[in-house]
Amino acid sequence: MSQTVSINPFTGEEIKSYKNHSLKEVNEIIDHADERFQSWRRTSFLERANLMRAAAEELKRNKEEYAETMVMEMGKPISQALAEIEKCAWVCRYYATHAEEHLEKETVETDADKSYVIYEPLGVILAVMPWNFPFWQVFRFAAPALMAGNICVLKHASNVFGCAIHIEEIFRRAGFPKYCFSTLLIESSKVEEVLRNDKIKAATLTGSGPAGSSVASIAGENIKKTVLELGGSNALVVLEDCDMDRTIKTCINARFQNAGQSCISGKRLLVHESISEEFLGKLVSKIKELKNGNPMDPDTFIATLARADLAEDLEEQVKKSVDQGAKILIGGKRDGAYFEPTVLTEVRPDMPVFKEETFGPVLSVTTFKDLEEAIHLSNHPTFGLGVSVFTQNTEQIERILYRFDEGSVFVNELVKSDPRLPFGGVKQSGYGRELSKHGIREFTNRKTIFIKK
Ligand code: NAP
Repeated sequence: MSQTVSINPFTGEEIKSYKNHSLKEVNEIIDHADERFQSWRRTSFLERANLMRAAAEELKRNKEEYAETMVMEMGKPISQALAEIEKCAWVCRYYATHAEEHLEKETVETDADKSYVIYEPLGVILAVMPWNFPFWQVFRFAAPALMAGNICVLKHASNVFGCAIHIEEIFRRAGFPKYCFSTLLIESSKVEEVLRNDKIKAATLTGSGPAGSSVASIAGENIKKTVLELGGSNALVVLEDCDMDRTIKTCINARFQNAGQSCISGKRLLVHESISEEFLGKLVSKIKELKNGNPMDPDTFIATLARADLAEDLEEQVKKSVDQGAKILIGGKRDGAYFEPTVLTEVRPDMPVFKEETFGPVLSVTTFKDLEEAIHLSNHPTFGLGVSVFTQNTEQIERILYRFDEGSVFVNELVKSDPRLPFGGVKQSGYGRELSKHGIREFTNRKTIFIKK
């Protein structure tokens, strides 16, 4: 029987060892989930909403316990872990309130006496999720999926099985019928088997490109719908007329919160050459003020990365870029799973820190001469999750929005997910959308009804 071990990245100590589910156990869970679908799909929006509100209450009731598990398993500072739990409660309340209107019947005038579109659930949906926001990534999928009448099975990242077990408990304690939400404790090599199970109707994956490509290929072979939320290398485009102090504060949060381990982090700072010296001077002095240390300390802003091997990969990207001519303005060193907040200047598009995703606290800096060059640099050949533009001339940006090949454009704000707005990417950042009315409709059958008397 295989086991999965959770290691605390800050202390290096083993937290717990989990017995993985066997294939037989996995198939039994999926059978039960499919049976549950038959009754769950017939519940009213009101019943589902009451349960979803209870899940929000449950999250808040035990938020310290849940946040501490995140800290232990993936090293997120406790203040950010608590904020993540609050955000999960928000998405539960959001869909409890809005699911029904998002899935309302749509009447369409045709030559029929009556014609309309209704949104029906698909059945059991597999979610393959990453460790970086171990609660939020799951809730932003599960809240709309359950409210639409679907059933969820989760394959969480192997280093956050404790979080995965908590999430199943939260739905159970909230009163959701058994098997509405189930956690599969399995290795990624078992995902293929799950995807090929006829009772799994669709899948969503948040994670890296190779994992997304594998899941999408297998699902495609079996003609199953997928939504993919993959990597990103968002640009922070700083124009010469920006409000500098405000922009610096936002850029620091965009890059360094969660130790930079976010798909939507601002990874590439593009700054107008006329203000770059002053901007970088002020940026570095603010970075020096970031408090690092024990993630359980409420004042800690930046702790370790989630695993030592991730810090090693980042070190390699920095080293190669420096070998190619990038300059270290601050940071650059690794100690186990800890990586110093780092700024690299003189970065060119052919360097690893520009062309690859950096999943840690490393900000690459490239200067530009004019808006034309800024747009050119900001559009990444591989990724297209989002971009932040900093300027006081918002009208100018609105006129040229269409030139950013991205899933979102945020002006004077970091790219962030919000239950009220669709979230997702283009290019190799994925396809489909989560959140808002767009997200809840992804895993529905948009059924056309045409009635003639
Ligand atoms: P990852 O290695 O792709 O893992 C994500 C999930 O996929 C885990 O549950 C993992 O399980 C599983 N997995 C890995 N390889 C698989 C395969 N071949 N088939 C099926 N499942 C597989 O990614 P990560 O390192 O945890 O997360 C970082 C990546 O996620 C970054 O690229 C980041 O940008 C992206 N991300 C994207 C978003 C977004 O919304 N666009 C949000 C957050 C993160 P195991 O842990 O067992 O390997």
